[in-house]
Amino acid sequence: MERISWDQYFMAQSHLLALRSTCERLTVGATIVREKRIIAGGYNGSVSGDSHCIDEGCYVIDGHCVRTVHAEANAILQCAKFGVPTEGAEMYVTHFPCLQCCKTIIQSGIKTLYYAADYRNDPYAIELFKQSGVHIKKVELESNAVDINSNEKATYVELLLNKLERVTKDDRQLQEFKNEAQRLFHVNQ
Ligand SMILES: [Zn+2]
Ligand SMILES: [Zn+2]
Repeated sequence: MERISWDQYFMAQSHLLALRSTCERLTVGATIVREKRIIAGGYNGSVSGDSHCIDEGCYVIDGHCVRTVHAEANAILQCAKFGVPTEGAEMYVTHFPCLQCCKTIIQSGIKTLYYAADYRNDPYAIELFKQSGVHIKKVELESNAVDINSNEKATYVELLLNKLERVTKDDRQLQEFKNEAQRLFHVNQ
């Protein structure tokens, strides 16, 4: 049995948080970690008590939904609310932070930022992170990281592909299936 790596574990947590997002434009999750312990998490959603984008639609101004508090800010504010220091902490976030969140992250004392996907990466945000000495690293979530049946699934898909290989005459289609199986199930080829 192979243990999940710390990076994948914390990044998976952020993807789990993103599933709680109430804005349909982009679902983001952020996890704050200190000394390998999760101290806070957030997702993008409305201010407590306000209506949700998923119920009422987004409140869009200049191409941005202004209804939500962003995941990164929510995670940091959770620390503020309960009095948990963020100095020297790390953050795992599903998408590269917007400029406002970038500034919030820097001011909170977070020193390392791991993000899974590029998203309109703001050049000024990149510059600010660099200036303030915040270490940035891209960590993509591996598709089988939190799939507890991943080995069984890979074996089963491999079996189906082998059966198909014997009966099909369409080599191009077969290769497409194999590529997709590799991407989704990490099937050995
Ligand atoms: Zn929205
Ligand atoms: Zn943001």
